[in-house]
Amino acid sequence: MSAVPVRRKVLIDYLRSAGIADDRVLAAIAAVPRERFVPDTLRHQAYEDYPLEIGEGQTISQPSVVARITELAEVTARDRVLEIGAGSGYQAAVLAQLARFVFTVERLPRLAETARGRLAGLGYRNVSVQVMDGTLGWRAQAPFDAIIVSAAAPAIPHALVDQLTDGGRLVIPIGELRLQELVRVVRRGDRVEETRHGPATFVPLVGRDGY
Ligand code: SAH
Repeated sequence: MSAVPVRRKVLIDYLRSAGIADDRVLAAIAAVPRERFVPDTLRHQAYEDYPLEIGEGQTISQPSVVARITELAEVTARDRVLEIGAGSGYQAAVLAQLARFVFTVERLPRLAETARGRLAGLGYRNVSVQVMDGTLGWRAQAPFDAIIVSAAAPAIPHALVDQLTDGGRLVIPIGELRLQELVRVVRRGDRVEETRHGPATFVPLVGRDGY
């Protein structure tokens, strides 16, 4: 990681001390220039561990949450991954370091356009950004080996579980508007295993199966 800028290296050390143990996830975060995903005026805060405003009332999730969610999704190089809530495109970039292909959807066209331009500008060829209501998943591209929801939902949208492969993982913050819990659902045939992974705070998922 010799070419990794100092601020990003400090972040990686912090994430490790905060309990992120998967070296592949840490390497993915080390490879993504987070300062390119925040507004110019906030660049100096790009490596701090809190969410930042990205316009349209939305935020880029804090690095430790991105790391935790990515770790829980257990993404491998063979995987096709769906993200709901592209926002700045940062989480999608981290996933793109690990996955075969990342489909990310965003309901706000302006954010989607900016994310698409950034990801293309950074040379990501394995990410597709689409404008749509992600609470319904992306049926035409399903099934997915992992689905990550980057916005808070009142309950697990059934359409998303239906779009998982056998053994596929869904990671989603579930709860009230102010506080949620990270939930991981693993599909095993017709059954699902659900586990809980601590508190989180996200902007709301808006749409048919959202708020
Ligand atoms: N992953 C993003 C964080 C974005 S915040 C990043 O790394 O920057 C959550 C995003 O979800 C917001 O941009 C919001 O507009 C979007 N969103 C909310 N409801 C949605 C829905 N139903 N479908 C798609 N995107 C949605």
